[in-house]
Amino acid sequence: MTFSDFKLPISLQKALDETGYTQPTSIQQKTFSVVMSGRDVCGIAQTGTGKTAAYLLPILKQFKFTKERHPQTLIIVPTRELAVQVTNEAKRLGQYMNLTALAVYGGVNLSVHRGEVEEGMDILVATPGRLLDLIYCGSLRTKAIKKLVIDEVDEMLNLGFRSQLKSVLETLPEKRQNLLFSATMTDEVELLIEDYFNNPVRIEAAPVGTPLEKIEQIVYRVPNFNTKVNLLELILQEDSSMVKVLLFVATKKMADELFLPLCEKFPEQVGVIHSNKEQNFRFNAVNKFKAGETKILIATDIIARGLDIEDVSHVICFDTPEVAENYIHRIGRTGRADKNGTSITFVADNETEQFEAIEALMQTTIAPTQLPASLVISTVLTDDEIPKIRMKHIPFKIPKGEGIGAAFHEKSEKNKKVNVKVSHKDKMMAKYGKPKSRKPKK
Ligand code: AMP
Repeated sequence: MTFSDFKLPISLQKALDETGYTQPTSIQQKTFSVVMSGRDVCGIAQTGTGKTAAYLLPILKQFKFTKERHPQTLIIVPTRELAVQVTNEAKRLGQYMNLTALAVYGGVNLSVHRGEVEEGMDILVATPGRLLDLIYCGSLRTKAIKKLVIDEVDEMLNLGFRSQLKSVLETLPEKRQNLLFSATMTDEVELLIEDYFNNPVRIEAAPVGTPLEKIEQIVYRVPNFNTKVNLLELILQEDSSMVKVLLFVATKKMADELFLPLCEKFPEQVGVIHSNKEQNFRFNAVNKFKAGETKILIATDIIARGLDIEDVSHVICFDTPEVAENYIHRIGRTGRADKNGTSITFVADNETEQFEAIEALMQTTIAPTQLPASLVISTVLTDDEIPKIRMKHIPFKIPKGEGIGAAFHEKSEKNKKVNVKVSHKDKMMAKYGKPKSRKPKK
């Protein structure tokens, strides 16, 4: 199948030619005719499969210009980054059509978006919370919406947007076409489909769990957090093929903790994105990484999902994901567009089970790579790694016949505790051999 089979209007075909895409991807081939037929669609597709164009192409083909500028198409996405990315793709494909697309998301003053929405647009791309704000304050009229796309539904439900999504769905006209895209099919997604969708056609791009052939997967068994930091610094220093490294971490806290030591070692080379960072900071970090101005981007799973960054040479999983599918999502950010990629995963002793679940999902096993001889193994544990000491409670028995004087007191609960905390100064001493002061957060 080729793009000419889509019989696109000249204006859309011209924009498509300029993108340089030569052939429709599998999700694009499967989705096009179903959307054109008017049926609801449930697409199982990860980022990188071309799913954005899969829904945009038929939507743009069916677009009819009207003077009234209430949106005809509403695209709901989980993150601000994805909102901007999808809007840019809509603008790029629609550039020769008389059509406007607008992105709205949290973190921007509501009055700015109110003004933009009131000016009108054809395609609105929105995150759920901001969308509801705009509906409730009366700036956004949803009566003209004929097509609804919910992208990355599983992620949106994971983020707890269920009730916001439902509230939005209840304000939409009943007669509409629903297109839903999700990387995984969870029970929650099924429930949403049952409640709001009309017997959708199910389309699958690449089943999750498929081994990713173009990605060389490397696994290091690393005893603890501080040794992971040492290993990370070592491989970043020594491996010159690491030109664009996406570094995944489980939490925002961990992202910030890694940012400081990496910035010291690789000045001006490191960016970080997570949901506590300001919007402009996040856009800047992503743009610099995309442009190759920084070589390392530290990211949490949620923010990185859906981000389309080309030519990632290496994905490093600093921690082993708790949800096995997230491993596939993480490493799938490299080895894209017919290029080869490498993923490196650090598995600590307490993450063995999680990694076994990942291997089971991929139906393969990965032999761990030997740790470099020059790696400094740290014995300093973080607070989370220190085994919690449980005191055995031995009840104190009063010998028979012996009275207890008035001055006797049981120790209070708080005084029974054994303090096993290692101070920051001691940790730094053990790791760097000299005291290091904390730098103020940027
Ligand atoms: P997506 O899965 O929508 O995030 O798209 C991933 C990447 O694939 C984006 O950079 C798109 O520009 C690109 N892309 C989409 N469709 C095609 C295609 N048919 N051929 C080549 N690249 C494509």
